Amino acid sequence: SGVSSAYSTALAARRRSYGPNTSLSYEQPLMIVRGHGTYLYDDQGVQYLDCINNVSHVGHANAEVAASASAQLHTLNTNSRYLHPDLPLYTELLLSTLNSTSDKSLHSGNKGSSAGGCSDISDGCGSGGGNCSRGGYSGSNTRRSSSSSNVTFPGIQPQSQPQCQQQQQSQPPSSSPTISQPNLEVLYLVCSGSEANDLALRIIAAARPGATHIAVMGGAYHGHTSALIQVSPYKFWGQGGTGRQPHVHVVPCPDPYRGDNLDGRAAARAALAAAARAGGQLGAFLCESVLSCGGQVVLPQGYLKELYDELRSAGVLLVADEVQCGFGRCGRAFWGFQTQGVAPDIVTMGKPIGNGYPLAALATTRELAAAFSAPGMEYFNTYGGSTAAVAAGLAVLRVIQRDGLQHHAQRVGEFILSGLRRLRATYEVVGDVRGLGLFLGIEIVRDKASKRHAPATARWLKERMKARRVLLSTDGPYDNVLKIKPPLVFGIREAEMLLGQLSEVLERELTADVLHQLNQREDEVWASVYGPRYLQYRENERMLYSGLPHARL
Ligand code: PMP
Repeated sequence: SGVSSAYSTALAARRRSYGPNTSLSYEQPLMIVRGHGTYLYDDQGVQYLDCINNVSHVGHANAEVAASASAQLHTLNTNSRYLHPDLPLYTELLLSTLNSTSDKSLHSGNKGSSAGGCSDISDGCGSGGGNCSRGGYSGSNTRRSSSSSNVTFPGIQPQSQPQCQQQQQSQPPSSSPTISQPNLEVLYLVCSGSEANDLALRIIAAARPGATHIAVMGGAYHGHTSALIQVSPYKFWGQGGTGRQPHVHVVPCPDPYRGDNLDGRAAARAALAAAARAGGQLGAFLCESVLSCGGQVVLPQGYLKELYDELRSAGVLLVADEVQCGFGRCGRAFWGFQTQGVAPDIVTMGKPIGNGYPLAALATTRELAAAFSAPGMEYFNTYGGSTAAVAAGLAVLRVIQRDGLQHHAQRVGEFILSGLRRLRATYEVVGDVRGLGLFLGIEIVRDKASKRHAPATARWLKERMKARRVLLSTDGPYDNVLKIKPPLVFGIREAEMLLGQLSEVLERELTADVLHQLNQREDEVWASVYGPRYLQYRENERMLYSGLPHARL
């Protein structure tokens, strides 16, 4: 399609004067000027189905979040050095969601005002669009494995469940055992996921001063600061990366599809031993509860529990990075770690927390907060915990709760997954389909027998879907996983659009000729980029599990 002069000007200016190593999605980038619910619109008014943006959690341009933040900006936006009633309110509310390893957090909600203009969710569950009134939230506080005190917004009564929840007959399996572990009782508000993880590193250093080594998951990304690049194999073993630092140990990422690295206990022991061999001691293990950049990997049931148990008994601190998978996205629980039945010492949050307003958080125990505070240095963050950010955060929690978005994610996610399973049964390149709630991945392979990663085919599929106005992305260490992580207001109608278009691309466009060309391209990219990376990961595994020292990776 032809492009406007505004498009050409924006593209030229972007290339001329904006950071050259920032990326634009797609071979021909899109100029998006408006969003609503789970749709985006370009400058020509063309509508795209957004299946990727997990920041716009309660919908693009959500009216309630915008109104809350904007009203606060018109009243006051200042830092956390003054008291304000909303900061402790938000703090307690957010903390109340964390201290439960059961799958119950934020389950039942108040009936949404979804009839009146809140119709982003196409199958009648309502959403945060339109003219929703300032609703409320009541979370259950299940600290110490009991459910007792409720945190409520003033004047908000719990009501019946939204329609979509009533329709859902079967509750998700409550597979998580009850455990009494660290209570996350202290919150810090910051501005980005990177800031939250960077703060986690500082807390670890304060609490475990002698234990300077850290273990992370293969393929993980934790942020863009210098310190976080060092703990992000996605970056240090990725394009332009400078390799692993000696104090960082990479736990080989479980690959349930290929049956590799599934033993959490063995992984923990190997990481402890690797740190000892390198002359150090492990202070912390930093890991996403469901892996995102690592390729939308759902850890095997019990994996994280075994790993946590083993590491905790060695005094290692456990950090759950929930920047991508938190806030109900996984459907069966509000937090990813709750799906694994574990209790981290530190939880970091970001992306969806403010629906795009810069806000992020770190929750930890009183003991760790005390260790961090002990030297007496003030922690100050100019925008972290600012009044407007808190207003945005409160609105997001309110909408998730009122509109039952966690359950909605579970239901729509299962619908998508069953459609994807049908595609997997039919098409050779659809190797694996997986995920929790609205956090899904499709692993694209050469063929089902070899399970060889097929990044060129994955990228081609992404481009063909874009031509059909459906936006997906690719990721994973071999960039061969199509990611689906849309705003949670994604409904059954949107799921049908996604599945229908994908099925047509596979059926009509991926002809034998096209596949032949793609396979030639696969050989090229494997030889130049992904093959060496694959060998790096394999060498790391060998080194870790054999106990051998290794050359610098
Ligand atoms: N952790 C994870 C798991 C992430 O995916 C990201 C961002 N992609 C970050 C941390 C860093 O967050 P931010 O970009 O907000 O700094």
